[in-house]
Amino acid sequence: MDKRTFVKSVLLGVAGIYATSLAVKASRNSKRWDGVFRVSELPYPADSLEPFADAETIKLHLQHHESYTRNLNSAVVAAGLSGKTAHELMRMSSEFPKEIRHYSGGYVNHKLYWRILTPDKGSKPTKELFSAIERDFGTFDAFTEEFGRAAHSVCGSGWVWLIADKSGTLKVTSTCDHDNPMMDIAEVRGFPLMCLDVWEHAYRIRSKGKLSDHVNAFWNVVNWDVVSRRYQSASKLNFIV
Ligand code: MN
Repeated sequence: MDKRTFVKSVLLGVAGIYATSLAVKASRNSKRWDGVFRVSELPYPADSLEPFADAETIKLHLQHHESYTRNLNSAVVAAGLSGKTAHELMRMSSEFPKEIRHYSGGYVNHKLYWRILTPDKGSKPTKELFSAIERDFGTFDAFTEEFGRAAHSVCGSGWVWLIADKSGTLKVTSTCDHDNPMMDIAEVRGFPLMCLDVWEHAYRIRSKGKLSDHVNAFWNVVNWDVVSRRYQSASKLNFIV
């Protein structure tokens, strides 16, 4: 290879690497979040969660979620917080206007809620999650009982959670309004594995406003595959909240 050919091939090589890095950058950019919060489509038909929730409840509930999301987008712009992720907004919720706390929770909590529900019967916690539940609650039944008690302890409207705290310990906790255990203002903080909406709009129709029916029906529609995956990713992240 003479000098000119050598220089040419080196330049071509460099250009190739540059072009590849630009392409990678471009594909990253196209996936980059544009700062607008959106509600994803339900991963199952609205009428498939009976008797936990009827189609009308689910459709109305989705409208609530859309409205929290629209309001979050406006509140973020008004507060000069554009570009912050929902988790960033929650982690510093004490420093932001109360609208941000309310709407970021309304947006994130419902997003998780739709994902941890499923019409497919028969999903079970992985061995790893099941052992952690037995380790921290004694038995699986003791866990569901504590979850039910927490649902009844919510003052007014709120949510019940299974969380993994910083040390990896599983806990049941509840929050008022749309607070989330990842918020810095939460009394009990942790990474949410699953949640149950105990606002009355979630069960007014099908359970006729009877909370215990709502909680009992919940156990038939939990997507344990998603909950178990969340436990696994939390353990990989060392349960950082
Ligand atoms: Mn709700």
